[in-house]
Amino acid sequence: MAKKFAILGDVHSNLEALNVVLEDCRAQGVTDFLCTGDVIGYNACPRECMEIIRGLGCPVVKGNHDDYVSDFSQNLNNFHPHAAQVIEWTRENLDEESIAWLGNLPLSVTSMGITIVHSTCDHPENFGYVFDNLQAEANFIHQKTPICFHGHTHCPMIYEKSMSGVWRIDPQDMQLQMGRKYFINVGSVGQPRDGDPRATYVTYEPATKTVRFRRLEYDIQAAQERIRAAGLPDRLAERLQFGQ
Ligand code: ZN
Repeated sequence: MAKKFAILGDVHSNLEALNVVLEDCRAQGVTDFLCTGDVIGYNACPRECMEIIRGLGCPVVKGNHDDYVSDFSQNLNNFHPHAAQVIEWTRENLDEESIAWLGNLPLSVTSMGITIVHSTCDHPENFGYVFDNLQAEANFIHQKTPICFHGHTHCPMIYEKSMSGVWRIDPQDMQLQMGRKYFINVGSVGQPRDGDPRATYVTYEPATKTVRFRRLEYDIQAAQERIRAAGLPDRLAERLQFGQ
């Protein structure tokens, strides 16, 4: 059977969104998974989401939230107060073994000619954000494989490097070209921020070099109710319905 990858990340403890995404993966005939990190944070189902992601048995890279939850020496002061509050709540709601698993995640993985990283290939430990061509250019210098998938901004995007330079391409289904490099942001399963509240992930078929962006409706209200029931900041529930 031809390989078909699902690349997903920034699940952020959103069980409703994750379940819908995995159901779609099955319907799409996905054979392999890659996870771009930030399994936990922001939403109210860290245990359940970790169990599911670990159950996939796929490569997973460490996101900044995974890093903060598992590294008790970190100062949460330079984190947004809402995010910091959820980090502390998440620590209380995960067992030691799960926290250690998050702490042991690698920052970058290359598997079958594809690299995954949470933020960028240049200094992945700094968790820098890529929003423009210049920032993408810095990544490309350190990107060893033609294709790298990432997340972190929660905004799906394609950056392409060709002989003519670095170009930003709006997320769209496309066939990747030989001789070029691609740095593709797969968006966020659990907290999209590009104004579209639907859960996002990407599929990739090596045989045809085709990338597809999937957007899926899920039960946002159920995810919001969980956040409120857990006593987490209301703003985190609200933003889900606006995709911000
Ligand atoms: Zn994130």
